[in-house]
Amino acid sequence: MNLKDKLINYLKEEFISSVEINDSSSDEKFLRLEELKRKTLECKKCNLYKTATNLVFSDGDYNAELVFVGEAPGEDEDLQGKPFVGRAGKLLTATIEEFGLKRQQVYICNILKHRPPENRNPEPEEVAVCSPFLLEQLTIIKPKLIVTLGNFSTRFLLDTKDGISKLRGTCKKSPYDYMVLPTYHPAAVLRNMNLLTEFREDIKKAISYLSGKV
Ligand code: SF4
Repeated sequence: MNLKDKLINYLKEEFISSVEINDSSSDEKFLRLEELKRKTLECKKCNLYKTATNLVFSDGDYNAELVFVGEAPGEDEDLQGKPFVGRAGKLLTATIEEFGLKRQQVYICNILKHRPPENRNPEPEEVAVCSPFLLEQLTIIKPKLIVTLGNFSTRFLLDTKDGISKLRGTCKKSPYDYMVLPTYHPAAVLRNMNLLTEFREDIKKAISYLSGKV
């Protein structure tokens, strides 16, 4: 076994033992994402690292065609070091699984990698300094479709000031050259269950898009 294979096996055991790594392009992706994660662990570009418990880099399959992007970790995510694991995350997971994919088959992340105190909204300066990490994640993963969850990731990836109620449910090409389908943040759906029908429609549409049915 050469040095690179040994390193990959070590990292797999340490960090993502459930993920299959089975070809060289996948190996490269994995190593590039681990390097990027290391950079975010060391990052001090804004003050959020000072108050956060854990870095929240991503969850799921880095070979996924479908990527979900939220705005920032909340309390449960900060404690567990994983995105979308609280009540909103459970709604997202249940909806993904309702339409035929497992959570482990998609990739989930946020714009900000550390939690804003008291779950406040991300500040524009925080988005400006942290978003290059998200863009690098996306460059490595090369998703077929990105579902943006809520206003912040939608406005960032579509470079627009329009709100989520206007943009949701329609695929658009991002200036970053990705197809983006915006929908509500699941936390917003939990606060207003009238949004649930449209949220479910959007997730269903995203999953259908992967098989060319949209
Ligand atoms: S939130 Fe982003 S920019 Fe701020 S310290 Fe964490 S990784 Fe760095």
